[in-house]
Amino acid sequence: MSSIVDISLSPTVNSIKPSRSVAIADQALALIQAGVPIIKLSTGEPDFDTPAEIAEAGIKAIREGQTRYTQNPGTLELREAICRKLKGENGITYTSDQILVSNGAKQSIVQATIAVCSPGDENSLDFFRGFSREKALRNGGSVVTVRIHPVSVSCSRNRRVLVPAPFWVSYPEIARLANAKPVILSTRIEDNFLLDPKVLESKLTEKSRLLVICSPCNPTGSVYPKKLLEEIAQIVSRHPRLLVLSDEIYEHIIYAPAVHTSFASLPGMWERTLTINGFSKCFAMTGWRLGYLAGPKHFVAACGKLQSQFTSCASNIAQKAGVAALGLGHAGGEPVATMVKAFKERRDFLARSFGELEGVKISEPQGAFYLFLDVSFYYGTEAEDFGRIEDSESFCRYLLDKAQVAAVPGSAFGDDKGFRISYASSLTSLQAAFESIKKALLLLKRPAQV
Ligand code: PMP
Repeated sequence: MSSIVDISLSPTVNSIKPSRSVAIADQALALIQAGVPIIKLSTGEPDFDTPAEIAEAGIKAIREGQTRYTQNPGTLELREAICRKLKGENGITYTSDQILVSNGAKQSIVQATIAVCSPGDENSLDFFRGFSREKALRNGGSVVTVRIHPVSVSCSRNRRVLVPAPFWVSYPEIARLANAKPVILSTRIEDNFLLDPKVLESKLTEKSRLLVICSPCNPTGSVYPKKLLEEIAQIVSRHPRLLVLSDEIYEHIIYAPAVHTSFASLPGMWERTLTINGFSKCFAMTGWRLGYLAGPKHFVAACGKLQSQFTSCASNIAQKAGVAALGLGHAGGEPVATMVKAFKERRDFLARSFGELEGVKISEPQGAFYLFLDVSFYYGTEAEDFGRIEDSESFCRYLLDKAQVAAVPGSAFGDDKGFRISYASSLTSLQAAFESIKKALLLLKRPAQV
């Protein structure tokens, strides 16, 4: 018996794009499985194993039967360890009820964005009604007064999320998922892809709800200097409705003299900052799925409510491993320092090598494990058996085809002039990849003018 099935999907799902970096990785994987020796510079995860001390803590947790649900926001043990870390390393004071542990920082970002941006419905109205116009929030020792903006509820349908480009692929899609409008703020390679405060100022309106700052940045490796963050904070402080989502997931992967500054540590910013961090990148724990949000209690509690109906707590085993990770010492101690040293050596090699290539523009990457190279000089050139390079997508297809190197087109990050290389690969494969890219670029010719 056949029946008719409605296969339509929700407008929200239809409005978001699948992750483009995952798509390229899949294409590269298919070629690798077919026996093509592709060098994968497309992945966003460290090539190192999780440090043994952390892995052992996970194994011990399983052996000791720590295999049940934990409290929805995470174990008190882990949240207290996170509070100590944020105080000691970042100079920001939180209590354990201002921390929400999730299955990765991506979940933390999704929940935070939905909690502050989604169109108002009865529940969110109730949530906002639960607060008086003026509310005292506790920031460590000091008490700050926060105004609940009168248009917070009525304008919720028009909330905007401001995202500097090049951006991590998921921010705009997460904004759409929350039924908010992503507003892209362009940056320039000459400014090291750092947000120009004047650009920010020109794009801010009454509808602006969330400014995303990612430092160290995926995909550019840029690190925001404290002085620039202070200038941004000055502007932000003039907009009562504007919150800041500070994604600090790469914080320990940073190269001197660059220094990491937590946005919430700047004067007046604690009460409007949603600090995101996680274990995936700095502790090589992508598969453990562990991240967290720190922020004022009413935002964190709202995210916790979402999480309680969505996934419940993060993995109990991963949380035990997270405690061990934070126990490794300042900035992850020796195991993290060893990984950062290797990343720095690779960064130095690539920055030096690409810096000497004709037609390739490079910024000064100071953190994370990515380079974002401007190759727009090659657009309009052609190669035999390939055709014309039109944009970042055809450029990356060309690299896959001729250099057998997988990288991610800049269009995925909102900047079509370039492409992203992840140097979470051994120095030997990076050297081989560079030589192949160099050779492939030499084959590109401008078509003769007719
Ligand atoms: N933020 C940024 C900037 C990232 O690059 C990633 C992972 N690619 C995440 C957040 C999410 O990390 P996870 O969910 O693995 O903790």
